[in-house]
Amino acid sequence: MSAIDKSKPIGVVGAGAMGRGIVQIFAQSGFDVMVHDASAAAIDSAIATINKLLERSVTKERITADQKSATLMRITPINDVSEFKPVQLFIEAASEKPEVKKNIFKAVDDVLPSDAIRATNTSSISITELAAITKTPELFIGMHFFNPVPVMKLVEIVMGLETSEATYEKVHALAEAVGKTPLRANDHPGFVSNRILMPMINEAILCLQDGVATPEAIDGIMQLGMAHPMGPLRLADLIGLDVCYDILNVLHRDLGEDKYRPAPLLRKMVLAGRLGNKTKQGFYKYE
Ligand code: NAD
Repeated sequence: MSAIDKSKPIGVVGAGAMGRGIVQIFAQSGFDVMVHDASAAAIDSAIATINKLLERSVTKERITADQKSATLMRITPINDVSEFKPVQLFIEAASEKPEVKKNIFKAVDDVLPSDAIRATNTSSISITELAAITKTPELFIGMHFFNPVPVMKLVEIVMGLETSEATYEKVHALAEAVGKTPLRANDHPGFVSNRILMPMINEAILCLQDGVATPEAIDGIMQLGMAHPMGPLRLADLIGLDVCYDILNVLHRDLGEDKYRPAPLLRKMVLAGRLGNKTKQGFYKYE
């Protein structure tokens, strides 16, 4: 297993729901982290969220006030991707749109050190397709974290067609170094997690659309009957309804089966801007 080197920073693009969590866990584990987002407001909100979560840990005596400030000191927001020069691992966590991700990898590929690992947190876009944008597809890998990142233990590591075993081993070690449990999958639409999860969420939305039960009853039945920690509609709100819609569209297109077609109600919610927790309204309302 590769030795962990904390002398070289981690680079993250995208400071939304996932990116901010990824930044936090690496900084908390002693890595310097550089973070860039197209939106300055997203960076400000990410830093404020990390600050709030760390403060809560101080109050609960899980970390000291000194550890909190040391973690915040390790995070450097950057305006320009040309500043990613020294990173050992670059993680893309921008919006789930192929063109957005491809443009980011085009912009950073020549900036990053030739031996730096290029990783994406995509939920469903082909790792092999994104790797082909870069000059070193053997260094490209899927590093799929789960929401909320500081809490969820899993990292689904996704191997592209050309990903090398050395890249896998380094990413496996880095995932363990930030306290996660890495599990390996190959590059197929939705990998393991979303290929199984998204049809369940979609079916719950179809149940709601067909008037089978209320959101509370659908979620309660799945929670109590199947021992799930939360129901599928509440989970969809947490993931983001736009993210669920994008993933289902990829599954539907790439696997070519009707069972993956996004429920019309999901499409309607996305068009209405009801995206779940992040817009304070989805299948439920949030304060
Ligand atoms: P989000 O909408 O909360 O955040 C995306 C961020 O990317 C935004 O802050 C946006 O400003 C930024 N962005 C967009 N285009 C950019 C660009 N060209 N350059 C720099 N920044 C840019 O989305 P999210 O939920 O954090 O999802 C991010 C990625 O993580 C997606 O690929 C998603 O599929 C994946 N993912 C999401 C979840 C989840 O539960 N939300 C779970 C696992 C993986």
